[in-house]
Formats: sequence, structure tokens, C-alpha cells
Amino acid sequence: MVLAELGKRISGALRSLTTATVIDEQLLDNILKEVCAALLASDVNVRLVQSLRKNIKKIVNLEELAAGVNKRRIIQKAIFDELCRLVDPGVEPFKPTKGRPNVIMFVGLQGSGKTTTCTKLAHYYQRKGFRAALVCTDTFRAGAFDQLKQNATKAKIPYYGSYTESDPVQLALDGVERFKSDGFDVIVVDTSGRHRQETELFAEMKQISAAVQPDNVILVLDGTIGQAADAHARAFRDTVPVGSIVITKMDGHAKGGGAISAVAATGSPIVFIGTGEHIQDLDVFKAQSFVSKMLGMGDLGGLMETVQDLKLENSNLVKNLEQGVFTLRSMQQQMSMMSSLGPLSRVAGMIPGMPPELASQLSDAQGSANLKRIMCMLDSMTDAELDSDGRLFYTQPSRIYRVARGSGVRVGDVEMLLMQTKKMGEMFKTMSGMSKMQQKLGV
Ligand code: GDP
Repeated sequence: MVLAELGKRISGALRSLTTATVIDEQLLDNILKEVCAALLASDVNVRLVQSLRKNIKKIVNLEELAAGVNKRRIIQKAIFDELCRLVDPGVEPFKPTKGRPNVIMFVGLQGSGKTTTCTKLAHYYQRKGFRAALVCTDTFRAGAFDQLKQNATKAKIPYYGSYTESDPVQLALDGVERFKSDGFDVIVVDTSGRHRQETELFAEMKQISAAVQPDNVILVLDGTIGQAADAHARAFRDTVPVGSIVITKMDGHAKGGGAISAVAATGSPIVFIGTGEHIQDLDVFKAQSFVSKMLGMGDLGGLMETVQDLKLENSNLVKNLEQGVFTLRSMQQQMSMMSSLGPLSRVAGMIPGMPPELASQLSDAQGSANLKRIMCMLDSMTDAELDSDGRLFYTQPSRIYRVARGSGVRVGDVEMLLMQTKKMGEMFKTMSGMSKMQQKLGV
């Protein structure tokens, strides 16, 4: 993700605060210059970058700061807060309530990832216990209904659409009515993304919105869109009451900054980001978590939420996280959970202290290929070994040979597992220290 590049540049600029002996106007200007250059290089809207710079200069008035105050901390916090403001319009996003129909209408240009995201969202709510359904109203693009049907069938989500009805407004009305009377909680309406003329597209959107009276309109923006995002977002906002934004394709080479600027253009919060083509590749977006993660500070909140989402509140893993204890048994529990946790790379990025390069290296395929082998090794260990942090193996190396023989792997593989456990243990210790930098910044 190119945003990692942005994060690296900004945290690099912030690091100069720690190494500098004197903190003066000149240093602040240099830092701000680098932060702004990094944001512009990521396609964040020029006006937003200028106002971010102005705001930080206003907050951090070095001349007026009393002697003895921690200038480093004030600068760090001002930059962190302004980065958060950039992605957070301060509006509480719409949340569906169970037991009544919540109609969510999707809008966005063709190719932005709308249809894919509709299914991801319905799946997301389905996992949270909502009865979710999909309605396809795209009568313009041949194959649109087939695509939605295919996605929905795979995810076992009820859907509505038609090969013969050519009026999208009628389709929307019929679909929503059907699912309402069937008692569905979340009804996701996908709309067309392309027409012969843009005016037709916007007119249709307006009519569908007037007909189904959505509780929320979600604008889907392609993360690779660049500076054009601002104008696109405004055009949609002027036509329909955009309530939330989803930014897609943030897994690839998206600079992301352009789409992020749409927050200011619409005043609507980003609610999710799309991080891949698969149904589970949808991450809840939270401004502070996003900025923390981007700056390599981890996202303990997000990690805890992911774990809690799996209803593992009482599991030892959560206890490990809280206490900063990590044994081989913790590793065993974590490995057996890994398949439901989703790609390791996603979880890894949330761990404070985990270098982003390492997080992205822990790819999905690699993770699943190693999983079985690791489980075999752990299954070959005794209770005493599992309850240790691994040091036991180094004082008695014969244990390493025994586990290797028992699980049919090489000695090097067992050593690698022990090293990984040690590393995880160190990370968990950092996490239980509750991301010290975040605390220091008072966030
Ligand atoms: P629509 O025309 O707006 O409905 O767009 P689609 O849902 O058909 O998506 C267009 C393409 O983008 C498809 O190939 C999707 O698989 C892909 N896509 C959608 N969301 C993401 C994402 O978050 N990451 C990646 N890598 N691809 C995505």
C-alpha cells in the first residue's frame, strides 16, 4: 500500500523532533514542509494540505509557549490531530438497527468497486447477526445482475434483480418492498455506475433515492482516483444525500490521498476501506486507528475489535494481549484461530511495533502454507513446553530434535517457530504497554 510510504515519510519527519537539540520555528517549518510534501505526493487535495499546515502553525505557537512545556509533544500531537481531522469530518456514521428495515443505497462510478462492496457490506452485517439482502438495479450494464447474483450466491445472501425489467426505479422499489415484507434488517441497493451521459446517471440516482428513501447513501470511491476525487465526490453529494464513503482498492498501489480528500468535499465519514477482491476484504475505518497504523504506531483498538468480533472475548489470546504474556500455547491458540482471523497481513498491521514491511511480507498464501506445519510442531510439544515461552528448548536442545522428529520437519523449522514465538512475545509486551507512543500523544 502506497499509504505506507506516506506514513514512513511523516514518521521520518516526526523523528527529527526526537533527535533535534533545539526545537525552534525553523525545525517546525522543516517538519511541516516534509509532512505537506508527503501528503501532496499522495494526492491529498492541495487546499486541505494548506489548511492543515496553517492549523498546525496556529496551534503550535513556539514563541508563546511557556518555558518548560514539552514542545516535542505539542508538535507531535498537533500533527497527529490534524491528520485525523483530514480523514474525520466529526460526523457519527449511520449504523443500522436490528428489527427494522435499513435501506442502504450505493452510488459511485462504474469500476469503482460498487457491486463488490455491496456484497462485502451485506456479508459484514450478516456476520454481525443482521438479516441482509441485495438488490441489483443496474439495467444499463449487461452482466451487472449476473455479477451480483454470483457474488451473493457465493456468500449465501438473498438477492433481487431481473433480466427483463428495464426500469431501475421499479426494480429498486420491488426489491426493497419484497425484502421489507420478508423482515430483512439490511437491504443493500446497488445502482448503475455508467450511462450514455452523466446527466442520465445522476437523474436515475435521484429517482431511485426518492423512490426507496434510503436510510443511508454510501458513495464508493476508487482509492486510485487521485485528485479527481474531489470533483467526483462533490457531484455525487449535490445529487443524492451521501451519508458515508467507502474507499476501495487500498490494497494495491493506491495513493489513497485523493479519495481521502473526499471526506472534506462531502462532509461524510469514511466508514470502510476495501482491501482486496475477496468478500472479507473490507476493513472498518476509524480515523485515529487509520492514522496510527499509517504512522507505524499500530492499532490496538482495531486488533481487539477483530478478536472480539470473533467472539473470543474470554479466550486466552485476549488475556495474553492484556497481560503481555505469550507462550507457545498462545502461539498454538493463535494459529488455530488464524483461519477465522483472516489474512495474517491484515492483523499484523494492527500490531503496534510491527514494522510495515514485515506485516506486508506475511502474505496470505505464505501464512496458510506454513500453518499446518506449525500446528504439527506445536502438537508434538509437551504441556510444559507449550506453557513456556520457548527458553526451555534452548536449555535442553534435545527437545528441539524430538519435536522436529515427531512432526516430520527440519530442526531449523522448529528453531524458526521458537524465534517467531519470541518475536510475538515481544510484540505482545509492547501492546500490553498500550502503545506507549499513543498514550504519550494523549490519543
Ligand atoms: P462497479 O462497476 O463499481 O460495480 O465495480 P466492481 O464491483 O465490478 O469492481 C471493479 C473491479 O474492482 C473488480 O475487478 C473488483 O474485483 C475490483 N475491486 C473492487 N474492490 C476492490 C478492492 O478493494 N481491492 C481490489 N484489489 N480490487 C477491488
